[in-house]
Amino acid sequence: MGQRKKVTVITGGAGFLGSHLCDRFLAEGRKVVCVDNLITGNLKNIAHLSKVKDFEFIKHDISKEFRYNGPVDSVLHFASPASPVDYLNYPIQTLKVGSLGTHNTLGLAKLKKARYLLASTSEVYGDPLVHPQKETYWGNVNPLGPRGVYDESKRFAEAITMAYYRTHQVDVRIIRIFNTYGPRMRIQDGRVVPNFIYQALTGRPLTVYGTGRQTRSFCYYSDLVEGIWRMLRSSVTGPVNLGNPNEFTILEFAQLLIKILGKKCKIVYQPLPQDDPKQRRPNIGLARRHLKWDPKVNLEDGLRDTLVWFQQQGLE
Ligand code: UDP
Repeated sequence: MGQRKKVTVITGGAGFLGSHLCDRFLAEGRKVVCVDNLITGNLKNIAHLSKVKDFEFIKHDISKEFRYNGPVDSVLHFASPASPVDYLNYPIQTLKVGSLGTHNTLGLAKLKKARYLLASTSEVYGDPLVHPQKETYWGNVNPLGPRGVYDESKRFAEAITMAYYRTHQVDVRIIRIFNTYGPRMRIQDGRVVPNFIYQALTGRPLTVYGTGRQTRSFCYYSDLVEGIWRMLRSSVTGPVNLGNPNEFTILEFAQLLIKILGKKCKIVYQPLPQDDPKQRRPNIGLARRHLKWDPKVNLEDGLRDTLVWFQQQGLE
């Protein structure tokens, strides 16, 4: 009898990153159990997997108790609204999935003696006063502001993950994900990449918030998935930053998109949302050293591919 296939539980598996992880883990010969309550995830993202033998979808809110019959080798906790607009629309769910959801998935990992990977975020650094951000920086977060629901739930998630590591010896990994983009983002999710693409493709002006001088560093999803795969298989607990260190102002990003599309687009300025970080760029020294990982896809190439995908989807 051959060895049984390793089983990976991926929460948020019907979301943007989660669904790409489902694809990758299946391609690596694993069995994937995708758990999602579909509040921001979408069955369309995993429709192509519905007939795959090693793929199982469970519609469930991971903030509630979760039981799974059978062995589990790794748990990847990716469930959470991830766009500022989404977590403003679902503040309580965001807090619950980062706290109760992390507790439940850690409990599962403990019970099954599985390896555990937490998807944390650059948002734990808040509006950072240290630049670029290193894992040793503790951050500058407003717990009371509208973004606090996401920032604090992820900070709590990191804390409880470390508590399970220290108290129960759960074999944990923590990654801090910086802005990531690519196919399967929701066109209306409110983040800058889909927003500008939607606006540009439908002849609307690009809505730059504030002066547009705030910066972000955009990582293509395939680079991130590779980093996550390496992190899970490494022996580093983390946290480890995963992101592309090439930094752009939002205005530069708008101009790049306009250049790629080769058509005229107006830019309109709108108020900057509260607590919007002024700068963000990962220091990826740890990932380079421990994972031998470096992003490969530059923003222009990644954006071209993303544009093609959005055009194929239709834009409603
Ligand atoms: N932004 C913008 N126009 C938009 C959407 C976002 O200028 O239509 C800005 C936003 O204020 C922020 C940056 O783009 O400075 C990235 O925003 P996003 O919502 O993608 O994610 P964040 O990095 O803030 O979590």
